[in-house]
Amino acid sequence: MHLSDILFHLGEDRSKYFNAVAPPIIQSSNFAFDSIDQFRSMLQHEMESHIYTRGNNPTVEILRKKISALEKAEDTLVFSSGSAAISMALLSQIQSGDHVICVSSPYTWTKLILQDYLPRFGVSHTFVDAREVTEIEACIQDNSKVLFLESPNSMTFELQDLSACAKLAKQHGLITMIDNSYSSPIYQNPIEHGIDLVIHSGTKYLNGHSDVVMGTVSGKKEHIERIFHAEYMTLGAIISPNDAALAIRGLRTLELRLQRSHESALKIAEQLDQHPKVKQVLHPFLPSFPQHALALRQMRGAGGLFSIHLDIERIEQAEAFVHALKHFTMAVSWGGHESLVLPTAAFYKIKGRDNSPLPFTLVRLYIGLEDPDWLLEDLLQALEKMG
Ligand SMILES: *Cc1c(COP(=O)(O)O)cnc(C)c1O
Repeated sequence: MHLSDILFHLGEDRSKYFNAVAPPIIQSSNFAFDSIDQFRSMLQHEMESHIYTRGNNPTVEILRKKISALEKAEDTLVFSSGSAAISMALLSQIQSGDHVICVSSPYTWTKLILQDYLPRFGVSHTFVDAREVTEIEACIQDNSKVLFLESPNSMTFELQDLSACAKLAKQHGLITMIDNSYSSPIYQNPIEHGIDLVIHSGTKYLNGHSDVVMGTVSGKKEHIERIFHAEYMTLGAIISPNDAALAIRGLRTLELRLQRSHESALKIAEQLDQHPKVKQVLHPFLPSFPQHALALRQMRGAGGLFSIHLDIERIEQAEAFVHALKHFTMAVSWGGHESLVLPTAAFYKIKGRDNSPLPFTLVRLYIGLEDPDWLLEDLLQALEKMG
């Protein structure tokens, strides 16, 4: 199906709602039945029927269809956050005594559910530097069930070879899942490489306007049905119809936003790569990136997120750089309309907490939809002010 068809028409049956061009927000918890027979038949197909909004809601259903098509998946569930999506996907595949293999620098809360939470239920894990598939193979145990990938990750952007990982996992009977938030479905479709479950923090590019927290899990019907009847219905971390409508609106410009961010970020990254006060730029689409060839092989673009290492000696210089920026908002998250800066220095000198394992020279930039030259000018003047 054509991308434009997915973003502008798929799942939208306008004849059902007065031919309204924008789909309605069906803000109802409950749906009425005409007869017991109809009630019974709907209960048999709860995932597609309209019974109760914790199961399926017509507005959310439109979003499910679009994201499935974007990720070339058979079905999708939408959750109240990306972290919920990650947790539910993991929980759906494990039980007490099982082992999970996960990339070594995943998103913080992916790390925490494996490290701090699941051990309470007898689930063990190994974090592995998964840039080489042989390293993953060395971690496989008899009780390994899941291989959890994040390629690229969202701070230092290490990649995994998706096809090789999927092949290895199949040989050993592991389910593969990937956090695909960095690339969005516009720039990477892991299912085409044989990955089983594709997860997004929809808070980032899918919604794209910094006003909704949501997550998605896409995959084969059998996997998604299993999550629906267990984790989705019992734990109940659903998205509201109102947020789903915002996300549908966000998707209208998904392709445009990604193109703009990709082009602007690459242009800015190339300029910073030449700058004497920047020691290194970490961006998968720069030729200097160690896994550049792999990035070109499995991704169609990189979006707006990359990091730089400042050429500095003291943490105060990183602080001065960030404080001198005028057009970047200092914040966590990314994938919205606005450009952001996330200094690793903020994760140092916090009372009662260890310093970040990442060096304070590292600064993450998210390039949003503003004029790239206007942003670059701001970065260049801030580099002059860091001393
Ligand atoms: C933000 C983020 C998440 C978590 O998503 P939430 O919607 O904030 O729960 C997961 N993975 C990555 C890569 C993220 O950037």
